[in-house]
Amino acid sequence: MLQRSIFSRILPQFHSANPETAKSLLSRFPTALLHGHRAAAHRSTSSLPGVTERTLIAVKPDGVQRRLVGQIIQRFEQRGFKLVGLKMLQVSEDLLSQHYCQLRTKPFYPSLVHYMTSGPVVVMVWEGHKVIQSSRTMVGHTNPAEAQAGTVRGDFSVHVSRNVAHASDSLEGAQREIQLWFQGKELLNWEGCDQTILYEM
Ligand code: UDP
Ligand code: MG
Repeated sequence: MLQRSIFSRILPQFHSANPETAKSLLSRFPTALLHGHRAAAHRSTSSLPGVTERTLIAVKPDGVQRRLVGQIIQRFEQRGFKLVGLKMLQVSEDLLSQHYCQLRTKPFYPSLVHYMTSGPVVVMVWEGHKVIQSSRTMVGHTNPAEAQAGTVRGDFSVHVSRNVAHASDSLEGAQREIQLWFQGKELLNWEGCDQTILYEM
């Protein structure tokens, strides 16, 4: 129906003058589209270095409470990164102590645990070229008072104790955190149809 209306709009005279040829074109139209899509899908991004880099992003309990989940996801989507894992959960102290294992001796650690376990968090895995570095820039300085406007923390928070979002800080950190928060089967390998627009293949 849709194809018929497109053809009759762009080729009305052709359609009435050559109904048989138009009919034959119509029958091939969806197949041609499908082949175009398949050809794009075959140019897999997995051969491009760094394009399948992954990082862990979390919306912390204050971000969830303040209904910022959608806006934070939107920033990563509109940048062009690909969401490959997403879930909401109430974090256990055990998981959190593994996540922040390097901070256990810090004076702020007890209040950090209290804050991070005070309500649900939304954790995500995002994929794309240099996503770890880019997402650290997008999330902004740890201390919101020093975070640039335009970053998540610079736009949505004021104090280091309530800084809305987490982003892995290195390749090793990202791999460790992704394994900690997600099981392999919770991460989806899917081919984005926009990859040839976002990257030179
Ligand atoms: N944090 C805090 N007080 C501080 C430093 C850090 O409450 O003085 C919290 C803050 O939530 C921060 C988290 O601990 O996001 C982890 O600290 P890190 O230095 O790893 O900063 P991040 O990687 O989150 O920018
Ligand atoms: Mg950190």
